[in-house]
Amino acid sequence: SQRIVVKIGTSSLIYANGSVNLASIDQLAFSLSALQKEGKEVILVTSGAIGVGLDKLNLKKRPTSIPEQQAIAALGQATLMNIYSQRFSSYNQETAQVLLTRDIIDYPVSRENVTNTIEQLIKMDIIPIINENDTVSVEEMDHQTKFGDNDKLSAIVAGLTNADLLIMLSDIDGFYSANPLENPDAKLYRQVQEINDDLMERAGAAGSRFGTGGMASKLKAAKLILENNQSMILANGSDPRIILDIVAGEEIGTLFS
Ligand code: ADP
Repeated sequence: SQRIVVKIGTSSLIYANGSVNLASIDQLAFSLSALQKEGKEVILVTSGAIGVGLDKLNLKKRPTSIPEQQAIAALGQATLMNIYSQRFSSYNQETAQVLLTRDIIDYPVSRENVTNTIEQLIKMDIIPIINENDTVSVEEMDHQTKFGDNDKLSAIVAGLTNADLLIMLSDIDGFYSANPLENPDAKLYRQVQEINDDLMERAGAAGSRFGTGGMASKLKAAKLILENNQSMILANGSDPRIILDIVAGEEIGTLFS
């Protein structure tokens, strides 16, 4: 059966004013539960732990110290999983939390343990909800290092699990010839077959307030996907029910294949 990894970004989970977008999370739970019931194998990679933690503490912006960010991520991750668990439950769908670190790249035994767990969850019709373990790996939140954003993590997970498709949801309809916020004439690419330097330049620098990635990290994820002969669709996650249209075969967003 078809195996689909969905990555949802902070901008789809948290409103611009900082509060949690429960409607969006509910639409996501509805869509993924529906796919699972159709016999698809679904894996979710979620961002948003820090955003949810900030909301819980009524903080408007990230603290600068890494330990504070880690503490907020730990608080937010538990809260976020609680929300997911409740929302998926209302669609009779079980979920499980899988927190990963760089170990899955560096150590074959760790990688094997992770794939075994994910495969078993899928067999049990449980949707794995994956995030990076911010308690262990601080790089995720360190803007100076290139390692470890969730866009890349989702591409790694897609590779690890031999997924048929990675659906990456962002706050924009796809990959454009230039940042549409700055260039109203920018054109949406329907399909990209190769990531080259020219395209990387068109992706510019980091994006949203809470998100760490920006379009550049999405293109890097797409590069990993293409190197692995896999496919990725980048689409707008403002209404996550778009996932159902994508899986139904509608031409949406940018296809990297
Ligand atoms: P998310 O938080 O959903 O992961 P990001 O905010 O990190 O998303 O990245 C998406 C943003 O990247 C867009 O909102 C847009 O402002 C910016 N961007 C820069 N260059 C491009 C481009 N060429 N095409 C589309 N978006 C771009």
